[in-house]
Amino acid sequence: RASRKTADERPDLQISFEFFPPKTDAMEERFWESIHKLAPLKPRFVSVTYGAGGSTRERTLRMVRHITSDAGVPAAAHLTCVGASRDEVDEVVRGFAEAGVKSIVALRGDPPEGVGKPFVPHPQGYQNAADLVAGIRRLGDFDISVAAYPEKHPQSADWDADIDNLKRKLDAGANRAITQMFFRNADYLRFLERARRAGITAPIVPGIQPIHSFKQIAGFAERCGASIPDWLADRFEGLGEDPETHALVAAAVAAEQVTELLDEGVTEFHFYTLNRSNLVLALARLLGRRPN
Ligand code: FAD
Repeated sequence: RASRKTADERPDLQISFEFFPPKTDAMEERFWESIHKLAPLKPRFVSVTYGAGGSTRERTLRMVRHITSDAGVPAAAHLTCVGASRDEVDEVVRGFAEAGVKSIVALRGDPPEGVGKPFVPHPQGYQNAADLVAGIRRLGDFDISVAAYPEKHPQSADWDADIDNLKRKLDAGANRAITQMFFRNADYLRFLERARRAGITAPIVPGIQPIHSFKQIAGFAERCGASIPDWLADRFEGLGEDPETHALVAAAVAAEQVTELLDEGVTEFHFYTLNRSNLVLALARLLGRRPN
Protein backbone atom coordinates (compact mmCIF):
# COMPACT_ATOMS: atom_id res chain seq x y z
CA ARG A 1 0.00 0.00 0.00
CA ALA A 2 1.35 3.40 -1.02
CA SER A 3 0.04 4.93 2.22
CA ARG A 4 2.39 2.64 4.17
CA LYS A 5 5.49 3.79 2.31
CA THR A 6 7.85 6.42 3.67
CA ALA A 7 7.86 9.90 2.17
CA ASP A 8 11.14 9.12 0.38
CA GLU A 9 9.45 6.23 -1.39
CA ARG A 10 6.86 8.57 -2.91
CA PRO A 11 8.93 11.11 -4.87
CA ASP A 12 6.26 11.70 -7.53
CA LEU A 13 3.74 13.34 -5.17
CA GLN A 14 2.40 16.75 -6.28
CA ILE A 15 0.11 18.94 -4.19
CA SER A 16 -1.57 22.29 -4.76
CA PHE A 17 -3.69 24.54 -2.56
CA GLU A 18 -6.69 26.69 -3.41
CA PHE A 19 -7.50 29.94 -1.60
CA PHE A 20 -10.15 32.63 -2.07
CA PRO A 21 -9.34 36.36 -2.06
CA PRO A 22 -10.01 37.75 1.45
CA LYS A 23 -12.62 40.49 1.89
CA THR A 24 -11.54 42.09 5.18
CA ASP A 25 -8.27 42.92 6.96
CA ALA A 26 -8.86 40.13 9.48
CA MET A 27 -9.49 37.62 6.71
CA GLU A 28 -6.41 38.82 4.90
CA GLU A 29 -4.30 38.21 8.00
CA ARG A 30 -5.52 34.61 8.14
CA PHE A 31 -4.96 34.21 4.40
CA TRP A 32 -1.25 35.14 4.69
CA GLU A 33 -0.76 33.16 7.89
CA SER A 34 -2.08 30.05 6.11
CA ILE A 35 -0.03 30.68 2.96
CA HIS A 36 3.15 31.03 5.02
CA LYS A 37 2.41 27.79 6.88
CA LEU A 38 1.69 25.86 3.66
CA ALA A 39 4.44 27.33 1.46
CA PRO A 40 7.22 25.16 2.99
CA LEU A 41 5.32 22.07 1.73
CA LYS A 42 6.57 23.04 -1.74
CA PRO A 43 3.22 22.97 -3.57
CA ARG A 44 3.09 22.98 -7.37
CA PHE A 45 1.13 26.22 -6.89
CA VAL A 46 -1.18 28.08 -4.57
CA SER A 47 -4.23 29.15 -6.55
CA VAL A 48 -6.58 32.06 -5.87
CA THR A 49 -10.19 31.91 -7.05
CA TYR A 50 -11.97 34.48 -9.21
CA GLY A 51 -15.22 35.77 -7.72
CA ALA A 52 -18.53 35.36 -9.50
CA GLY A 53 -18.71 37.65 -12.52
CA GLY A 54 -15.09 38.76 -12.07
CA SER A 55 -16.09 40.57 -8.87
CA THR A 56 -12.71 39.90 -7.24
CA ARG A 57 -10.56 40.73 -10.26
CA GLU A 58 -8.38 43.31 -8.47
CA ARG A 59 -8.10 41.29 -5.26
CA THR A 60 -7.26 38.07 -7.11
CA LEU A 61 -4.52 39.92 -8.99
CA ARG A 62 -3.13 41.53 -5.81
CA MET A 63 -3.04 38.19 -3.97
CA VAL A 64 -1.34 36.23 -6.77
CA ARG A 65 1.20 39.02 -7.24
CA HIS A 66 2.21 38.87 -3.55
CA ILE A 67 2.14 35.09 -3.36
CA THR A 68 4.63 35.04 -6.22
CA SER A 69 6.87 37.82 -4.95
CA ASP A 70 6.66 37.48 -1.13
CA ALA A 71 5.77 33.91 -0.21
CA GLY A 72 8.28 32.26 -2.52
CA VAL A 73 5.74 29.83 -3.93
CA PRO A 74 4.32 29.69 -7.48
CA ALA A 75 0.83 31.20 -7.77
CA ALA A 76 -2.01 30.22 -10.08
CA ALA A 77 -4.81 32.66 -10.87
CA HIS A 78 -8.34 31.42 -11.55
CA LEU A 79 -10.11 33.20 -14.39
CA THR A 80 -13.66 33.02 -15.76
CA CYS A 81 -15.35 34.29 -18.94
CA VAL A 82 -18.44 35.67 -17.17
CA GLY A 83 -19.64 39.15 -18.15
CA ALA A 84 -16.50 40.23 -19.99
CA SER A 85 -15.45 40.61 -23.62
CA ARG A 86 -12.48 38.71 -25.02
CA ASP A 87 -10.45 41.93 -24.95
CA GLU A 88 -11.23 42.47 -21.27
CA VAL A 89 -10.35 38.88 -20.37
CA ASP A 90 -7.15 39.09 -22.43
CA GLU A 91 -6.22 42.25 -20.52
CA VAL A 92 -6.58 40.34 -17.23
CA VAL A 93 -4.35 37.55 -18.58
CA ARG A 94 -1.67 40.12 -19.50
CA GLY A 95 -1.97 41.53 -15.96
CA PHE A 96 -1.32 38.05 -14.54
CA ALA A 97 1.73 37.65 -16.77
CA GLU A 98 3.11 41.04 -15.68
CA ALA A 99 2.63 39.96 -12.04
CA GLY A 100 4.86 36.94 -12.70
CA VAL A 101 2.01 34.42 -12.70
CA LYS A 102 2.67 31.48 -15.00
CA SER A 103 -0.32 29.25 -14.11
CA ILE A 104 -3.99 29.87 -14.80
CA VAL A 105 -7.06 27.85 -13.80
CA ALA A 106 -9.36 28.54 -16.77
CA LEU A 107 -13.11 28.34 -16.15
CA ARG A 108 -16.33 29.29 -17.80
CA GLY A 109 -17.87 30.46 -14.51
CA ASP A 110 -21.55 30.68 -13.64
CA PRO A 111 -24.13 33.34 -14.51
CA PRO A 112 -24.69 36.08 -11.91
CA GLU A 113 -28.26 34.76 -11.39
CA GLY A 114 -26.72 31.66 -9.85
CA VAL A 115 -25.33 28.22 -10.58
CA GLY A 116 -27.87 26.17 -12.53
CA LYS A 117 -29.20 29.11 -14.55
CA PRO A 118 -28.28 28.94 -18.26
CA PHE A 119 -24.94 30.52 -19.12
CA VAL A 120 -25.18 33.30 -21.70
CA PRO A 121 -21.76 34.36 -22.98
CA HIS A 122 -20.92 38.06 -23.33
CA PRO A 123 -21.65 39.04 -26.99
CA GLN A 124 -17.93 39.60 -27.62
CA GLY A 125 -16.84 37.09 -25.00
CA TYR A 126 -15.34 33.63 -24.78
CA GLN A 127 -18.10 31.04 -25.20
CA ASN A 128 -16.96 28.44 -22.67
CA ALA A 129 -13.85 27.18 -20.89
CA ALA A 130 -12.45 25.43 -24.00
CA ASP A 131 -12.68 28.71 -25.93
CA LEU A 132 -10.97 30.52 -23.02
CA VAL A 133 -8.12 27.97 -22.92
CA ALA A 134 -7.51 28.52 -26.66
CA GLY A 135 -7.49 32.30 -26.05
CA ILE A 136 -4.98 32.06 -23.17
CA ARG A 137 -2.74 29.81 -25.27
CA ARG A 138 -2.59 32.53 -27.94
CA LEU A 139 -1.37 35.03 -25.33
CA GLY A 140 1.55 33.17 -23.85
CA ASP A 141 3.16 30.06 -22.52
CA PHE A 142 1.01 29.47 -19.43
CA ASP A 143 0.50 26.31 -17.42
CA ILE A 144 -3.29 25.83 -17.67
CA SER A 145 -5.65 23.79 -15.47
CA VAL A 146 -9.35 23.23 -16.21
CA ALA A 147 -12.29 21.87 -14.22
CA ALA A 148 -13.62 18.29 -14.27
CA TYR A 149 -16.70 16.81 -12.59
CA PRO A 150 -16.61 13.26 -11.15
CA GLU A 151 -20.42 13.42 -10.77
CA LYS A 152 -20.89 15.13 -14.21
CA HIS A 153 -21.39 18.88 -14.63
CA PRO A 154 -25.06 19.65 -13.85
CA GLN A 155 -25.48 21.23 -17.31
CA SER A 156 -23.99 18.34 -19.30
CA ALA A 157 -26.74 16.46 -21.15
CA ASP A 158 -25.06 13.09 -20.49
CA TRP A 159 -21.71 11.51 -19.73
CA ASP A 160 -20.57 11.58 -23.36
CA ALA A 161 -21.21 15.34 -23.57
CA ASP A 162 -19.39 15.87 -20.28
CA ILE A 163 -16.29 13.89 -21.25
CA ASP A 164 -16.27 15.40 -24.78
CA ASN A 165 -16.24 18.85 -23.20
CA LEU A 166 -13.31 17.93 -20.94
CA LYS A 167 -11.46 16.56 -23.96
CA ARG A 168 -12.08 19.82 -25.88
CA LYS A 169 -10.54 21.81 -23.01
CA LEU A 170 -7.45 19.60 -22.92
CA ASP A 171 -7.16 19.52 -26.72
CA ALA A 172 -7.33 23.34 -26.69
CA GLY A 173 -4.12 23.29 -24.68
CA ALA A 174 -4.85 22.71 -20.97
CA ASN A 175 -2.17 20.76 -19.08
CA ARG A 176 -4.40 19.06 -16.52
CA ALA A 177 -7.88 18.95 -15.01
CA ILE A 178 -8.73 19.51 -11.36
CA THR A 179 -11.96 18.00 -10.09
CA GLN A 180 -14.89 19.48 -8.29
CA MET A 181 -15.14 18.26 -4.68
CA PHE A 182 -16.44 14.71 -4.29
CA PHE A 183 -16.88 12.45 -1.27
CA ARG A 184 -17.18 9.01 -2.87
CA ASN A 185 -13.80 7.94 -4.23
CA ALA A 186 -15.58 5.42 -6.46
CA ASP A 187 -17.12 8.35 -8.40
CA TYR A 188 -13.67 9.80 -9.07
CA LEU A 189 -12.17 6.45 -10.07
CA ARG A 190 -15.09 5.74 -12.43
CA PHE A 191 -14.71 9.20 -13.95
CA LEU A 192 -10.99 8.59 -14.47
CA GLU A 193 -11.82 5.36 -16.25
CA ARG A 194 -14.36 7.09 -18.54
CA ALA A 195 -11.82 9.80 -19.39
CA ARG A 196 -9.05 7.29 -20.14
CA ARG A 197 -11.43 5.27 -22.31
CA ALA A 198 -12.16 8.47 -24.28
CA GLY A 199 -8.44 8.88 -24.95
CA ILE A 200 -7.75 11.56 -22.33
CA THR A 201 -4.21 11.09 -21.03
CA ALA A 202 -3.70 14.35 -19.08
CA PRO A 203 -3.64 14.21 -15.27
CA ILE A 204 -7.05 14.52 -13.58
CA VAL A 205 -6.20 15.79 -10.13
CA PRO A 206 -8.73 15.09 -7.35
CA GLY A 207 -9.99 18.24 -5.60
CA ILE A 208 -10.15 17.45 -1.89
CA GLN A 209 -12.53 19.44 0.29
CA PRO A 210 -11.85 19.03 4.01
CA ILE A 211 -15.09 19.44 5.97
CA HIS A 212 -14.29 22.32 8.35
CA SER A 213 -18.01 22.86 8.79
CA PHE A 214 -20.39 20.17 7.63
CA LYS A 215 -23.26 22.65 7.31
CA GLN A 216 -21.21 25.03 5.14
CA ILE A 217 -19.75 22.30 2.92
CA ALA A 218 -23.15 20.62 2.45
CA GLY A 219 -24.43 24.02 1.21
CA PHE A 220 -21.49 24.42 -1.22
CA ALA A 221 -21.95 20.85 -2.44
CA GLU A 222 -25.62 21.36 -3.15
CA ARG A 223 -24.94 24.54 -5.14
CA CYS A 224 -22.27 22.92 -7.31
CA GLY A 225 -24.00 19.56 -7.87
CA ALA A 226 -21.75 17.40 -5.67
CA SER A 227 -23.60 14.87 -3.53
CA ILE A 228 -23.23 14.17 0.17
CA PRO A 229 -23.57 10.41 0.77
CA ASP A 230 -25.86 9.37 3.64
CA TRP A 231 -23.00 7.73 5.53
CA LEU A 232 -21.11 11.05 5.50
CA ALA A 233 -24.08 13.08 6.76
CA ASP A 234 -24.55 10.40 9.41
CA ARG A 235 -20.98 10.82 10.68
CA PHE A 236 -21.51 14.54 11.32
CA GLU A 237 -25.08 14.31 12.60
CA GLY A 238 -25.58 16.16 15.90
CA LEU A 239 -22.06 17.65 15.94
CA GLY A 240 -23.20 21.24 15.25
CA GLU A 241 -22.63 22.19 18.90
CA ASP A 242 -19.53 20.05 19.43
CA PRO A 243 -16.68 21.65 17.46
CA GLU A 244 -13.95 19.43 18.93
CA THR A 245 -15.57 16.15 17.89
CA HIS A 246 -16.58 17.74 14.57
CA ALA A 247 -12.91 18.63 13.88
CA LEU A 248 -11.73 15.10 14.74
CA VAL A 249 -14.36 13.48 12.53
CA ALA A 250 -13.49 15.91 9.69
CA ALA A 251 -9.81 14.98 9.98
CA ALA A 252 -10.63 11.26 9.97
CA VAL A 253 -12.93 11.57 6.94
CA ALA A 254 -10.39 13.55 4.89
CA ALA A 255 -7.54 11.25 5.95
CA GLU A 256 -9.54 8.22 4.86
CA GLN A 257 -10.30 9.84 1.51
CA VAL A 258 -6.71 10.80 0.64
CA THR A 259 -5.04 7.59 1.86
CA GLU A 260 -7.55 5.51 -0.10
CA LEU A 261 -6.78 7.54 -3.25
CA LEU A 262 -3.06 7.20 -2.62
CA ASP A 263 -3.50 3.43 -2.39
CA GLU A 264 -5.37 3.57 -5.71
CA GLY A 265 -2.25 5.05 -7.30
CA VAL A 266 -3.19 8.74 -7.22
CA THR A 267 -0.08 10.95 -6.90
CA GLU A 268 -1.45 14.49 -7.41
CA PHE A 269 -3.85 16.25 -5.03
CA HIS A 270 -5.49 19.69 -5.00
CA PHE A 271 -6.82 20.95 -1.65
CA TYR A 272 -9.70 23.41 -1.22
CA THR A 273 -8.29 25.11 1.88
CA LEU A 274 -10.94 27.79 2.48
CA ASN A 275 -7.88 29.81 3.59
CA ARG A 276 -7.14 27.52 6.55
CA SER A 277 -3.97 25.53 7.03
CA ASN A 278 -4.25 23.11 9.98
CA LEU A 279 -6.14 20.20 8.50
CA VAL A 280 -4.39 20.50 5.14
CA LEU A 281 -0.98 20.46 6.86
CA ALA A 282 -1.92 17.18 8.50
CA LEU A 283 -3.25 15.70 5.24
CA ALA A 284 -0.08 16.65 3.36
CA ARG A 285 1.91 14.89 6.05
CA LEU A 286 -0.18 11.72 5.62
CA LEU A 287 0.63 11.90 1.92
CA GLY A 288 4.32 12.07 2.76
CA ARG A 289 4.96 15.78 2.36
CA ARG A 290 6.31 17.84 5.23
CA PRO A 291 7.82 21.30 5.52
CA ASN A 292 11.37 21.36 4.21
P1 FAD B 1 -17.20 24.43 -19.25
O1 FAD B 1 -16.12 23.42 -19.30
O2 FAD B 1 -17.20 25.48 -20.29
O3 FAD B 1 -18.55 23.63 -19.24
C1 FAD B 1 -19.74 24.03 -18.61
C2 FAD B 1 -20.91 23.19 -19.10
O4 FAD B 1 -21.27 23.60 -20.40
C3 FAD B 1 -20.65 21.69 -19.19
O5 FAD B 1 -21.82 21.01 -18.81
C4 FAD B 1 -20.34 21.48 -20.64
O6 FAD B 1 -20.63 20.15 -21.05
C5 FAD B 1 -21.25 22.50 -21.30
N1 FAD B 1 -20.73 23.02 -22.57
C6 FAD B 1 -19.52 23.62 -22.78
N2 FAD B 1 -19.40 23.97 -24.07
C7 FAD B 1 -20.55 23.60 -24.69
C8 FAD B 1 -21.04 23.71 -26.03
N3 FAD B 1 -20.32 24.26 -27.00
N4 FAD B 1 -22.29 23.23 -26.29
C9 FAD B 1 -23.03 22.64 -25.32
N5 FAD B 1 -22.61 22.53 -24.03
C10 FAD B 1 -21.41 22.99 -23.73
N6 FAD B 1 -16.07 29.40 -10.57
C11 FAD B 1 -15.77 30.73 -10.41
O7 FAD B 1 -16.62 31.59 -10.64
N7 FAD B 1 -14.53 31.12 -9.98
C12 FAD B 1 -13.53 30.24 -9.73
O8 FAD B 1 -12.42 30.64 -9.34
C13 FAD B 1 -13.82 28.84 -9.90
N8 FAD B 1 -12.85 27.91 -9.66
C14 FAD B 1 -13.12 26.57 -9.89
C15 FAD B 1 -12.10 25.63 -9.71
C16 FAD B 1 -12.33 24.26 -9.93
C17 FAD B 1 -11.21 23.28 -9.75
C18 FAD B 1 -13.64 23.83 -10.30
C19 FAD B 1 -13.92 22.36 -10.48
C20 FAD B 1 -14.66 24.77 -10.48
C21 FAD B 1 -14.42 26.14 -10.30
N9 FAD B 1 -15.42 27.11 -10.51
C22 FAD B 1 -15.12 28.46 -10.33
C23 FAD B 1 -16.79 26.72 -10.89
C24 FAD B 1 -17.05 26.73 -12.42
O9 FAD B 1 -16.96 28.04 -12.93
C25 FAD B 1 -18.44 26.15 -12.66
O10 FAD B 1 -18.46 24.79 -12.31
C26 FAD B 1 -19.08 26.36 -14.04
O11 FAD B 1 -20.43 25.97 -13.97
C27 FAD B 1 -18.46 25.57 -15.17
O12 FAD B 1 -17.21 25.96 -15.49
P2 FAD B 1 -16.32 25.06 -16.50
O13 FAD B 1 -15.04 25.76 -16.66
O14 FAD B 1 -16.29 23.66 -16.08
O15 FAD B 1 -17.20 25.21 -17.84
